Amino acid sequence: MKPVSNIIITIDGWSSCGKSTLARQLAKKLGYVYIDSGAMYRAITLYFLRNHVDWTSVKEVEEALNSIDIDFHYNEATEKSEIYLNGENVEYVIRDLVVAEKVSDVAAIREVREFAVAQQRKMGKKKGIVMDGRDIGTTVFPRAELKIFMTADNAVRVERRFKELFEKNPNITVEEVKNNLEMRDYIDSNREVSPLRQAKDAIVLDNTNITEEQQLKQALKWAKENLSQ
Ligand code: C5P
Repeated sequence: MKPVSNIIITIDGWSSCGKSTLARQLAKKLGYVYIDSGAMYRAITLYFLRNHVDWTSVKEVEEALNSIDIDFHYNEATEKSEIYLNGENVEYVIRDLVVAEKVSDVAAIREVREFAVAQQRKMGKKKGIVMDGRDIGTTVFPRAELKIFMTADNAVRVERRFKELFEKNPNITVEEVKNNLEMRDYIDSNREVSPLRQAKDAIVLDNTNITEEQQLKQALKWAKENLSQ
């Protein structure tokens, strides 16, 4: 489907609510670009871990950010936009629990957020974009035409993320996944800079008891209502 007109759609919410699944499908249906902002924070974290950056030091953080180049490239085979860190495809390695355990600490750093948000705004200049994350509707694009805030029961979120991670690492436990989700949600919603909040003008989508098809149908309806305005 060709875009009729271009709007910005933001999808924020708790960890593992299926934001990226919905964002990707919605972008495909509308012929829009999909950007996974969480992947940017994960790639930065991966760089910090690999290069032993002491992220309690502003100087080290600033120096490291100067050496980071982040890009997204569409992979025709997987039909996914994948993230590149300094030219290397890191789409899969950033999903590891090692990165997930540190990403919320790194994402709470002011300089890291300024770096990521500046790039995210550039990506949205031409509109025609669906971006998912934690602060997209509140900070990155506060004037976005459609803002969705996703939520789902904790147990359902843990089960979904566990299944996904178990495929890659059969040693992983439900407890580890649960602890990680709870920790990230806590840090993300309590940090000083751009905490996770529902934007006042966001529509809540609770997908605990609905299928992927149903949530896509609902989101498309909202998008089309905005497109026809
Ligand atoms: O979306 P995902 O779970 O991959 O995001 C990983 C982490 O990146 C989140 O737990 C959060 O700490 C951080 N994040 C953020 N702001 C965003 C997107 C992600 O702080 N817009």
